[in-house]
Amino acid sequence: MIRENVRMILEGLPPGVGLVAAAKTRSAADILEAVEGGLEIVGENYIQEAEAVFEQVGRRVKWHMIGHLQRNKVKKAVQIFDMIETVDSVRLAREIDKQCEKAGMRMPVLVEVNSGREENKSGVMPEEAPGLIREISALDHVEIQGLMTMGPFTGDPEEARPYFRTTRELSETVRSMDIPGVDMKYLSMGMSNSYKVALEEGANLVRIGTLIFGERSGGPGVN
Ligand SMILES: *Cc1c(COP(=O)(O)O)cnc(C)c1O
Repeated sequence: MIRENVRMILEGLPPGVGLVAAAKTRSAADILEAVEGGLEIVGENYIQEAEAVFEQVGRRVKWHMIGHLQRNKVKKAVQIFDMIETVDSVRLAREIDKQCEKAGMRMPVLVEVNSGREENKSGVMPEEAPGLIREISALDHVEIQGLMTMGPFTGDPEEARPYFRTTRELSETVRSMDIPGVDMKYLSMGMSNSYKVALEEGANLVRIGTLIFGERSGGPGVN
C-alpha cells in the first residue's frame, strides 16, 4: 500500500515539486517501502526518532528536519539532515552555523513562518521574516533557500489557502530584496489534506504523512 500511495502522489505532482514524506512515528520498514515507490525525501520531527530510522535507511534518501529544533539538538541534527526547514530564530541559526563550521559543511535551511499568527506555534511572524533572513544571511555556514509554513489546521483545505498565499507573497518580497547568499527557491507548504491547495498557491515542497502511510495511531501528533 505505502509503495502505491507514493507512486500515486508522485504521478499527480507537477514537475519540479518535491514530495517530503512526513514520517513521524513510522518505522524504517515503512520508509523503505515508500522509497521503493520512488520517494526521495524523508521529513522527521524529532531527533531521536530520526536517528533510529536513519541508521537503517541511510543516505539513499534526503533527510529534512520538519519539526521544531532545539538548540541542544543541533549538533546531532547537522549529522543527519540535508535541510532544516524550521529555522525561526537567529539563535537557532547561529547554533546551526557553529556546528556546521565545526563539521566543515554548509546547511541549507528554510525559514518557518507562523503564517496564521498563532500563539504557541513555532515560526517567525510574517512581518519579522525579512529582518530575520537578512540577519541569518550573514552566517557563512547556513544557506537560506526558502520558506516553510504549517498554517492553522482546520480540516478544510480552503481555509488554509490565505495562509499559503501570504507565505508565497512573503517569499516574493524577500526575493525582490536580493539579499546576497539568499536563494528563495523552495516553498514548503501543504500536508495530506491541503497539499493540492498549497500547489495552487505555489508550493514546490509538500509534506505528506497520512496519505502515504495511513492514519497515525495516537492522533495527529503534529510537532
Ligand atoms: C505530520 C506533519 C505533516 C504531514 O501531516 P499529514 O496530515 O499526516 O500529511 C506535515 N508537516 C509537518 C511539520 C508535520 O509534522
